[in-house]
Amino acid sequence: MEDMVIKEIGVKSILSRSNLPVCEYSVNPYIGCTHGCKYCYASFMKRFTGHSEPWGSFLDVKRWPKIKDPKKYAGKELFIGSVTDPYLPQEEFYERTRELLMQLKGSGAKISIATKSDLILRDLDLIKDFPDARVSLSINTLDEAFRSDMDNAVSIERRLDAMETFYRAGVRTTCFVSPIFPGITDAEAIIRRVKDQCNLIWLENLNLRGGYKKAIMDYIENTHPQLSHLYRDIYSGRDRSYWEMLDIRLKDYAAELGLDYVTNDDSMKRPFNAPPVIVNYFYHEQIKRSAVKVKKNG
Ligand code: SF4
Repeated sequence: MEDMVIKEIGVKSILSRSNLPVCEYSVNPYIGCTHGCKYCYASFMKRFTGHSEPWGSFLDVKRWPKIKDPKKYAGKELFIGSVTDPYLPQEEFYERTRELLMQLKGSGAKISIATKSDLILRDLDLIKDFPDARVSLSINTLDEAFRSDMDNAVSIERRLDAMETFYRAGVRTTCFVSPIFPGITDAEAIIRRVKDQCNLIWLENLNLRGGYKKAIMDYIENTHPQLSHLYRDIYSGRDRSYWEMLDIRLKDYAAELGLDYVTNDDSMKRPFNAPPVIVNYFYHEQIKRSAVKVKKNG
């Protein structure tokens, strides 16, 4: 991007206590994210960090004092990349994520890294030495044209290759199918494509709560007008039937493939070579309620 604003900033600490259900600490080596996904929920970060530039067009590169006692994180869950991508193209030069991993090396921390980039391959040797390391690649489409409309990250093929390389190297991998775009994301095709190279397939629906709602609705109107009605029903009318039907369809599909379809991730308890488990995380509570209803009625 031509008008990218990049600056280096000093921070007191690189690890923050997290209130996410999946980890005890979150770690973000950058503020902002130059992948600039149109649906990015992390774009709310702009408000807290004094940035007025469009999301995707700025990046603060963090410098922090060396982690004093890395061993104190032994056995703790650290999530790297909750509000940025730790393997942005700029990481190739600044190496902040690599520095973080070097500082935590031998600590015994349980790291989980989420990315849309195959630059993560550079750090494979470092990552695989962490106990129970998890690497998650985001893939919400196999259609390269839609992908490039939505983000500035690397191609889907490159993400799939990176996932496979980590999996073959014995690192637990997740295919993060998120966000699922109604009528566009072909979740069955993605599951089929990744089922032999990951341990977990995580399904999450598109949420349009942030300031990006208008941009996405306009995009649908202009490029997929036949879906406009559906999107209005879901995102203005709060109609959940699309997700309920998709849930049932994917459950059946998982059964057909012999895969477990659950609402709580227990993949770490399974042997590495077991088939991947599919976790459904859309409309978590409501889906559970509707499942009870279906059961009662059925
Ligand atoms: S890669 Fe993740 S953090 Fe970065 S813009 Fe996309 S969704 Fe947001």
